[in-house]
Amino acid sequence: MEISFFNTMDRKQEVFRPVHEGEARMYTCGPTVYNFAHIGNFRAYMFEDLLRRALEYAGYKVTQVMNLTDVDDKTIRDSRKQNMKLNDFTAIYKKAFFDDLKTLGIEPAEVYPAATDHIPEMIALVSTLMEKGYAYQAEDKSIYFSIDKFPEYGKLAKIDRENQRAGVRISTDEYAKDSVADFALWKAWDENDGDVFWESPWGKGRPGWHIECSAMAMKYLGKTFDIHTGGIDNMFPHHEDEIAQSECANGCKYVNYWLHCAHLMVNGEKMSKSLGNFFTLRDLMDKGFKGREIRYVLLGAHYRKKLNFTFDALKQAASSLAYFDELFIRLKEANGNSCPDINEFIAQYDAEFNTAICDDLNVSGCNAVIFKLGAECNKRMDAGSLSAADSAKILDLFRKFDRIFGFLNVDAAKKADIPQEIIELAQKRVEAKKNKDWASADALRNEIQSAGYIIEDAPGNTFRIKKA
Ligand code: AMP
Ligand code: ZN
Repeated sequence: MEISFFNTMDRKQEVFRPVHEGEARMYTCGPTVYNFAHIGNFRAYMFEDLLRRALEYAGYKVTQVMNLTDVDDKTIRDSRKQNMKLNDFTAIYKKAFFDDLKTLGIEPAEVYPAATDHIPEMIALVSTLMEKGYAYQAEDKSIYFSIDKFPEYGKLAKIDRENQRAGVRISTDEYAKDSVADFALWKAWDENDGDVFWESPWGKGRPGWHIECSAMAMKYLGKTFDIHTGGIDNMFPHHEDEIAQSECANGCKYVNYWLHCAHLMVNGEKMSKSLGNFFTLRDLMDKGFKGREIRYVLLGAHYRKKLNFTFDALKQAASSLAYFDELFIRLKEANGNSCPDINEFIAQYDAEFNTAICDDLNVSGCNAVIFKLGAECNKRMDAGSLSAADSAKILDLFRKFDRIFGFLNVDAAKKADIPQEIIELAQKRVEAKKNKDWASADALRNEIQSAGYIIEDAPGNTFRIKKA
């Protein structure tokens, strides 16, 4: 199956051609473990989950590496505030992160390297950059990458090199596009770092954030690999700096396809810790929402489109999922006439779905397919024209689609527990209808409703009951 993606580097959609036949190697920038991730962060991880599921769906063996940034400006600052050892502090949020991934049904990556376990690899990479003349030690004893030495600097973020300020240095990990500057590869220790430092050829210090990803990506995926992803805010400076470090050290292309997802928004603003407009997964679970519903919402728009988070969307997710739960229960009980075109019917939906997912992860197109298929199934079951064998095939198709979505859970749907007395009222109502005793049928319906249930007529004098 051919699959194509919008490559941020070229600003156009391209067919995916891996370095190694049949394999897809991808690196995804993971969390900085200084706090609970918010659902904006999870939009990025959800997009990466969708991407790996789509690659698997298209037949690739996926190797995904997601780093854990467990040493940087923020982890050091907050562990010191809490009076905790850096590792003890970050361990809390690493665990929380993995718990959250499970709640959201995000498939695990193959490797989760932590930055603090790879300091020697980072020192080796910085040494190579020093030897090759791309880096220098400044008066503050830190090591900086000299962007003047790499004429291609800015090719991902499309930075106008004319307006760059020569010789300016920046030591913080995060900065804006208008402060393009030589960036820190290795930061010399200062008192704000407390007991966090490693010995290096340049004195004690710690790695910059950008070098972490270059060193770990190279270790697990090779010098040139297929896909690198992150939220759009990672594009500059983080990914631009990764390209500069890796391509200068290795003398070859770093990554073939760059994929970035747009932000999760709240009332028109990016959800972020600094704006304070964020919800953690735990906040939403405490309000009674389920991981599956949050997953549905986060997959509710194409990854390159901004997605506005609302509680209405979460409620809508719950009702859409309930619709599918009911559909699956009904399909499992279908026992109508067999449908002569079942194989063509299935092939048509299958093809439509494949086209959508392989077209730059067009998840809205995939969603349209399952709703159309759901409506068609209900129509056919109403007419009694789906046999048990037909519906088994359709259920298999939904199971296949759920390898992408991960929220349908075809086999988890269970009949709501309906009390025996309600079922008896419904059976009495069927009898009343058979006898054309409409007044009693209406009275029985009202009685069922006032007990908190809804009854719907189904073909062949049968009925469906659900909780109101
Ligand atoms: P951070 O922990 O800030 O490095 O962010 C981890 C990941 O979440 C990065 O890939 C960010 O780009 C992404 N991210 C942060 N905020 C949002 C948001 N509101 N919407 C989507 N992705 C986000
Ligand atoms: Zn990164």
